[in-house]
Amino acid sequence: MSRFDSLFGFIRDHYRSDAAIPLHAPAFIGQEKTYVMDTLDSTFVSSVGAYVDQFEQRMAAYTGSARAVATVNGTAALQVALRIAGVSAGDYVITQPLTFIATCNAIAYCSATPIFIDVDRTTLGLSPQAMDEWLQQNAQLDDQGRCVHRADGRVIRACLPMHTFGHPCDLDGLMTVCSRWHLGLVEDAAEALGSRYRGQHAGTFGRLGTLSFNGNKILTTGGGGMILANEADGQRAKHLTTTAKVPHPYEYDHDELGYNFRLPNLNAALGCAQLEQLDVFLAEKRQLAAEYAEHLADSELTFVSEPPHCESNYWLNAVLCPNASARQALLEASNQSGIMMRPVWRLMNELTMYQQAPAGDLSEARWLADHLVNLPSGVRASIPSEAT
Ligand SMILES: *Cc1c(COP(=O)(O)O)cnc(C)c1O
Repeated sequence: MSRFDSLFGFIRDHYRSDAAIPLHAPAFIGQEKTYVMDTLDSTFVSSVGAYVDQFEQRMAAYTGSARAVATVNGTAALQVALRIAGVSAGDYVITQPLTFIATCNAIAYCSATPIFIDVDRTTLGLSPQAMDEWLQQNAQLDDQGRCVHRADGRVIRACLPMHTFGHPCDLDGLMTVCSRWHLGLVEDAAEALGSRYRGQHAGTFGRLGTLSFNGNKILTTGGGGMILANEADGQRAKHLTTTAKVPHPYEYDHDELGYNFRLPNLNAALGCAQLEQLDVFLAEKRQLAAEYAEHLADSELTFVSEPPHCESNYWLNAVLCPNASARQALLEASNQSGIMMRPVWRLMNELTMYQQAPAGDLSEARWLADHLVNLPSGVRASIPSEAT
């Protein structure tokens, strides 16, 4: 028995299952097998194929982005997006400490250093106010109009916010601060496929945005990612992610240092089938979020709802516990009863690799890390239901 039994009962009823309930699992209820088999039959399983083009075109149409370029994973998409935004060795990139490791690693792969700025409690994402305050105290525009860190003169090139669990950041605020300080805006929208801010798809506000199709995301290609960009940046992204090969019927010529970051056709086939299910997934996830909110309304747990002006994909539902010991109790009891719940990531500024990076006041991120727990959030079809 635990004080969370009513919540656990609600979750088991929802999933109609007495088996283990994962945090999130993929569901293949459409044309997945047909399309994947089609790539095998055609022998086009690798880096060239019709599904890659189709997946890119459909994803561009779905998000309203001028271009969408498929990549081997979301981290690679971020690395290339940062490079196209001009991030190079010795630069700084402003980001949030509350994120998955890929955000910071992509910065480090560009030989740049993150600057950690606090998040807002309402969005769980990078705070425009905190960022502007930190910049006023620590940065200035040099005579070429570049934003530089006063302490060491290094250029602060870009800003990389992350839309946590699918909840969009305060994008109006971030765009204002980025233009004031001449920073390139790149959105880590890995968790936010299907999320909108004032009706516009997340990941299409900055100069570039990126998505992930890892196995735990709302849509999966097994592993994969996408760069959302304007026409010119999209062309460059395609070039860089396909070894910077100069188009030619048979000659091998590469005009700069590129990457083999393209998404195999096999994976793109899975993506095309999954994309056809996305609206079904979104509707079910928003319904589950509404039911969680209602069920928890009078409890000690506060459900995290979408921020104002936003439509969240509710990729991972979250609650705030009244204190750290309640959080611990909830994590213990849920996992013991076979219902997977998870704390938020260890804050990036605490990890060995990033402890030396500059950071502002991070009290909101710390507070969230002490209080937040993710609840099971997959669609029903992802869990085999009990034979009745
Ligand atoms: C999943 C994710 C990524 C990308 O991860 P890949 O596994 O490389 O696709 C990047 N940032 C965040 C915040 C993520 O959750």
